[in-house]
Amino acid sequence: MTQHKDIATPSRTKEILAKHGFSVKKSLGQNFIVDGNVLVNIVAAADLNKNTNVVEVGPGIGALTEPLARASKKVVSFEIDDRLLPVLADTLSPYDNVEIVHNDVLKANLSEILSSRIDLEERLMVVANLPYYITTPIIMHFLESTVRIDGLVIMTQKEVGDRITASPSTKAYGSLSIAIQYYMEAEIAFIVPKTVFVPQPNVDSAIIKLTRRAEPSVKVKDERIFFQVARAAFVQRRKTLWNNLLVRYGKDEETREKLTKVLELAEIDPTRRGETLSLTEFGRLADAIVDVMPENSGK
Ligand code: SAM
Repeated sequence: MTQHKDIATPSRTKEILAKHGFSVKKSLGQNFIVDGNVLVNIVAAADLNKNTNVVEVGPGIGALTEPLARASKKVVSFEIDDRLLPVLADTLSPYDNVEIVHNDVLKANLSEILSSRIDLEERLMVVANLPYYITTPIIMHFLESTVRIDGLVIMTQKEVGDRITASPSTKAYGSLSIAIQYYMEAEIAFIVPKTVFVPQPNVDSAIIKLTRRAEPSVKVKDERIFFQVARAAFVQRRKTLWNNLLVRYGKDEETREKLTKVLELAEIDPTRRGETLSLTEFGRLADAIVDVMPENSGK
């Protein structure tokens, strides 16, 4: 196979941008990787091989798409910016296993788009240098999709990475940690300095690795109530769980009595703060709400 000059070097990136008269749009989170080592580490973290398909979000000028194409069976990559389509047609022309989908990934029906392009029975990884202005919605879009994704290896702001991987009783722990750790094992694979991007972002970045658990980390009676109570517990971080539950479910006498029963049943001290509760404890709390206040299941 002919070896092509890598896209992700400062000089080649400059050359590509100049050739196509392309100027980056900050509003679309366009920070392009110009460092081959970071790409090697991303590909290694995703454990790719020729039996694995990859979904990418935001190929940009193709810096990450190129090593993904080399290492995997097929890459389907969503790009919102139509100005990048001719650029990608040029830079990725040596690779016949890449398909660019011109679409806002958040509006994309993943199962429909992916099922016609890859075999969804095969191993599927999401690998992306995400646009930071919509990191969380993109992750949740993939996790909540009916498409079974085996794992995600994604570049995020370091601060978001900290929140995703946080343990209880830490400053970064919150409803995002719970929403993601419910489905996935989450770890920071490595920290990425600003200098690997053009243009450089204002924040530090991290590569996060999420691996699908065989079963959700807690078994609950009603997932919706679980996520609902996990969100409610953090609405006012500095208040007790009890206060946050009153705000969410009502302050009248009847609700107070029911919530007292809920907390007794779940064996959770109402004076604790939400940030101290583990996923297992949120699971017990949610199940107690389903038992004592079944009327909330529809809300
Ligand atoms: N993968 C390239 C790299 O690493 O050099 C570019 C990554 S850049 C951080 C984010 C990319 O996501 C940009 O190409 C941007 O146009 C694209 N993007 C932004 N919002 C998007 C959306 N809603 N759907 C799909 N792509 C989006």
